[in-house]
Amino acid sequence: MSSSSINNSPQFPNTESSMLGMVGGGQLGRMFVHEAQALGFKVMVLEPEVGSPAAHAADAHVQAAYDDAAGLQQLADACSSFTTEFENVPAASLAKLAETGFVAPSADCVSIAQDRIEEKAFFTRCAPQTGILPAPHAILRTADDLNHVSADLFPGILKTARMGYDGKGQVRVKSIEELRAAFANLNDVVCVLEKMLPLAYEVSVLVARGADGQAVVYPIAENVHRDGILFTTTVPSPHVSAEAALKTQNAALKLIADINYVGVLCIEFFVLQDGSVVVNEMAPRPHNSGHYTIDACVTSQFAQQVRAMARLPLGDVRQHSPCVMLNILGDIWFDGTTEQDKERQPAWDKVLALPSAHLHLYGKAEARRARKMGHITFIAPTLEQAQDEMRQACEILGIAV
Ligand code: ATP
Ligand code: MG
Repeated sequence: MSSSSINNSPQFPNTESSMLGMVGGGQLGRMFVHEAQALGFKVMVLEPEVGSPAAHAADAHVQAAYDDAAGLQQLADACSSFTTEFENVPAASLAKLAETGFVAPSADCVSIAQDRIEEKAFFTRCAPQTGILPAPHAILRTADDLNHVSADLFPGILKTARMGYDGKGQVRVKSIEELRAAFANLNDVVCVLEKMLPLAYEVSVLVARGADGQAVVYPIAENVHRDGILFTTTVPSPHVSAEAALKTQNAALKLIADINYVGVLCIEFFVLQDGSVVVNEMAPRPHNSGHYTIDACVTSQFAQQVRAMARLPLGDVRQHSPCVMLNILGDIWFDGTTEQDKERQPAWDKVLALPSAHLHLYGKAEARRARKMGHITFIAPTLEQAQDEMRQACEILGIAV
C-alpha cells in the first residue's frame, strides 16, 4: 500500500481500531502505555525481551526482535498507527510499518537522530533560521582522518556516531595521542570528536507537532548530569535567561517544522559560560528530561505522543506547579561497593511521606548500577519546597547531593 492511501483521519479511542503499535519495551514505552490506556486506547508492544517495563503494562506483547518480519507483520495486522520509544530501532522497521499505517515520528526523522553526523549536519543546515550551531567538531571515519584533526578541538569528547546513550560510547581526550588510543579502542567505528565546551548549565526543550502541522513547546527544563546520566531536571529552569529561553524554544519549533516531524521531540542545548547557546542532540521521542510533564503539566509528553500519532488535537503544555525530577538508578539498591552485597529495598515509605513526592518505578525486576529504575517528581507550590524535599529524599535514599 502506498503511503498516500494511508488513512490520516483521527484514530478514536474505545473502538475496534483503537490499538496503537509501540516498537520498544522500556520505561518510556511503559509510561506511554499508561497514558494511552487512560485515554481509552490499547497498546501492542513489539519487544524481544520477556518481562520488559512496557510489555508488563501493555494490552498485547509481540515477543520478537525490532527487525523481525513476522513480528512487524503481527503489529501491522493489529494496529493502524505506530510509534517508537527507542531511538535505535532500525529505521527500516518504521519504514516497513509505514507501508500499512501512520508512523510518528517517521523513519526519516528517526534516522537523523540516530546518527550524530546527520544530526549535526541538520542543526548546521538550520542554523541560519535558529541562530544556534552544534559544538565545533570533526568527523572521524577512518584512522587517517585523525591526521587532519584541528588542535583547537582539544580537550575534546570522542563520541561514537551511532548507538550512544547515557554517556555510553564517549571518551574524553586531551591530546591527539589520547584520541588515537581512544579511537583504536572503539575499534575504529565512525565517531565524532567534539570540542569540550565550558558549560554554564544544560537545558532541554520538548516540542510536539501534530499531523496537521500544529506545534506546541513546553517550558525549558534545566538538566544536571552525573557521569553522563541525567541526574535531575528542574522546571522552571533556575538559570535560564528570558532571552535564552525564547531562543531555544523558537529553535526547537523551527527544527521540528523543518523536517515535518510528527510526535514528541526533545532537543538538548548547552548554555556556555559566556551566555551563548549550542545545540547538543535530539531524541525522536518523549525524553527523560520530560518526565516532569506527567505530574506538573496539563498534558504529559506521553499523552501528547498518543494524541499526535492518533491525529488528535495536541493538549495544553501549561505547567501548573514548579517541579524537580530526580532519577532513581539501581545503585541505591546496593549499600557497599560491589554488587555482591545485594540487596536492600530503598525506604520508599519515608520518601512517600514527603508531601511533594510522586514516585514512578518502572517494574524492572533486577536492580543494576547505573540502570534507570524509576524517577521521583517533587511537585510543590514553590520551587524551593520541591528542591528542599528532593534533597531530603536524596538523604533518605543515600544519594549524594
Ligand atoms: P543521552 O542520550 O543520555 O542524552 P548521550 O550519551 O547521547 O546522552 P550527550 O548528550 O552527547 O550523550 O552527552 C552527555 C553529557 O556529556 C552532556 O549532557 C554533557 O553534560 C556532557 N557533554 C557532552 N558533550 C559535551 C561537550 N562538547 N562539551 C562539554 N560537555 C559535554
Ligand atoms: Mg544527551
